[in-house]
Amino acid sequence: MKALSSHIGERPVGSDGNRKATDLFKEELTFLGWNTQTQEFNALDWNAKSAELSVNGESFEVFVSPYSLGCSVTAPIAEVASLKDLEKSDFKGKIILLHGEIAKEQLMSKNFVFYNPSHHRKTVSLLENSGALALACATGRNASLAGGVNPFPLIEDGDFDIPSVYMTEEEGVKLSKNIGKEATLISKSERIRAKAYNVVGKKGDDSNKRIVITAHIDSKKGSPGAIDNATGVVVQLLLAELLKDYKGDKQIEIVALNGEDYYSTPGQMNYIEANKDNFDNILLNINIDGAGYITGETTFSFFNTSEKIYKKASKVLREFSEIIEGPQWPQGDHSIFVQNGVPAIAITSKWLLDNHDQDITHTKRDNISIIDCSRLVDVSLALNSFIRNL
Ligand SMILES: [Zn+2]
Repeated sequence: MKALSSHIGERPVGSDGNRKATDLFKEELTFLGWNTQTQEFNALDWNAKSAELSVNGESFEVFVSPYSLGCSVTAPIAEVASLKDLEKSDFKGKIILLHGEIAKEQLMSKNFVFYNPSHHRKTVSLLENSGALALACATGRNASLAGGVNPFPLIEDGDFDIPSVYMTEEEGVKLSKNIGKEATLISKSERIRAKAYNVVGKKGDDSNKRIVITAHIDSKKGSPGAIDNATGVVVQLLLAELLKDYKGDKQIEIVALNGEDYYSTPGQMNYIEANKDNFDNILLNINIDGAGYITGETTFSFFNTSEKIYKKASKVLREFSEIIEGPQWPQGDHSIFVQNGVPAIAITSKWLLDNHDQDITHTKRDNISIIDCSRLVDVSLALNSFIRNL
């Protein structure tokens, strides 16, 4: 936990920290005797220095949208609060202030395929065809889509090429008094081409009976990602140690997926592509994301598991008083398996399920001080016993 969330710290895909984390994971798995492979892919790292927005000498506090292009433009400000506003006007050569209704939910990135509602896709496509030079987005907080950050970046997409910044709703209200006036936006932001990889460790030969244990190893930029998701990676490594002499008839696969918190989920896409003809061989996915919060139980949630698997898991849960069955939740890598017809168990902290408006994940506050490491030991012991009983 210290190595990942304190020493390495932020681990966004393509960054130096991300590379260190995947190197560490690979070394540990190999050391524990797992047959280890990597799946490499291209990714963008991002370096944002600062942004300034001003109108007639009055300046507004703005932040560079993650993975945005930089800019230096002076242009009149127009405002957009709804899809209708966006459809009806011409924004050629303007800076658009996006606020109100249209800025309530973080827009899903263009190449994010798992959840991308039509009003998001429509907004993005209208913006791309609007002729706008830059966007200033005024937002509040929306923890279910953007984690605990306030304001949240409305746009976080390395495939979207209109430069953008974001600001609080209060700054947006101040800026909205300047519609039609000339504004100057200078944003220093840089996209950096990089490589990253998933790590896959295997034990056992029968690739027709796979149990795939996943956790995402990346974090949001600016967050040490302790509960999201160093804890999942630590559970995987503890389990790799507990299972190092595993001689059962299944093939156990431990996968550090690289990209759950990244706009285009490249590691997940890579894993899906590599397995597109082999999902049938996976008996069960176990995904750990958000486990180990300092208070409350750990939850195991079940997705299309057979009666047999459910009974075996329930028996193990009864031996651990602080692990309970939880409701289904969709925002994690288990959804990839469920969508491909594979039963899954998703493991997280009850506290996260109960507190949708929490202000911890994706921020600096997601650090080791909110973790109870004994819970990670419990989860790995429970999984070891469950897997050996299957
Ligand atoms: Zn996560």
